[in-house]
Amino acid sequence: MISSAAVDLGLKGRVAMVAAASKGLGRATAEALAREGCRLSICSRSTDNLDASRFAIEAAGSEALAVACDVSNAEDLERWVDATVATFGQVDILITNTGGPPAAKFAQLSEEQWRAGINSTLMNVIRLCKLVLPGMQQRKWGRIVNITSLVAKQPLELLTISSTLRAGLSGLTKTLADQVALDNVLVNALLPGHILTDRQIHLNELRSKEHGVTMEQYAARVESSIPMGRFGRPEEIGEVIAFLCSERASYITGVSLQVDGGIIRSTF
Ligand code: NAD
Repeated sequence: MISSAAVDLGLKGRVAMVAAASKGLGRATAEALAREGCRLSICSRSTDNLDASRFAIEAAGSEALAVACDVSNAEDLERWVDATVATFGQVDILITNTGGPPAAKFAQLSEEQWRAGINSTLMNVIRLCKLVLPGMQQRKWGRIVNITSLVAKQPLELLTISSTLRAGLSGLTKTLADQVALDNVLVNALLPGHILTDRQIHLNELRSKEHGVTMEQYAARVESSIPMGRFGRPEEIGEVIAFLCSERASYITGVSLQVDGGIIRSTF
């Protein structure tokens, strides 16, 4: 007989840290994990906008800790992890995320912008992993998902810094996954395509100016380039991340998974 029971992701009670979660993909991921019964620790640079995410998590029946933390700042990250452990005792799941580095062509980028990009997009991941990995390895259970970008596989002209660093993050994801696999710590990257968030709207504004068209015309052009014919929704990223963190995905590690409506052109 075929059972009609819903799939249990086995995440009830797990402690999950989700970075940059006041809106967009971070918030959608935190809410998806909350719906699965995780206890959430979320951050963004200020708690003003983060409180709305905390309320949404609490409304889903889960506990939430909201901490002001700039992910490009090493001390802030340490403080956030310490606060999470003080509140929930441990960290089982880490979702790295950030606001996205400045968008510009190579000639327009200063050394300072490159350094800021490296701090907020690459070093944040390295630092957070270093802070949470020892506990996960000791307990023989852990999940790390790095939210990166389609540009890891398919660079885009205006996203010079992002394209460079996101390809590097796929390399980090794979090498780190190898090194902690025997401890049952799974490390994966999720590469969103074009998902309708504030950042996507900002990028559409920039690009429509570059192309001399209205934002609506540019958005229609992007949609027609996506095989599925539409932008993605933030919850379509959150749900996949919840699956990657789950017991149902216990043999997936080291992958850079594209969730992109088919837009990435490479076969692998
Ligand atoms: P968003 O602008 O909607 O949300 C970004 C979130 O990050 C906000 O909560 C903001 O407060 C927080 N944030 C920004 N800088 C921070 C910092 N230094 N420290 C802590 N929090 C910070 O953006 P989004 O669309 O949700 O994108 C999230 C990430 O996914 C970005 O890195 C982006 O480049 C990447 N991405 C997005 C898309 C997309 O289509 N939306 C596609 C590919 C990759």
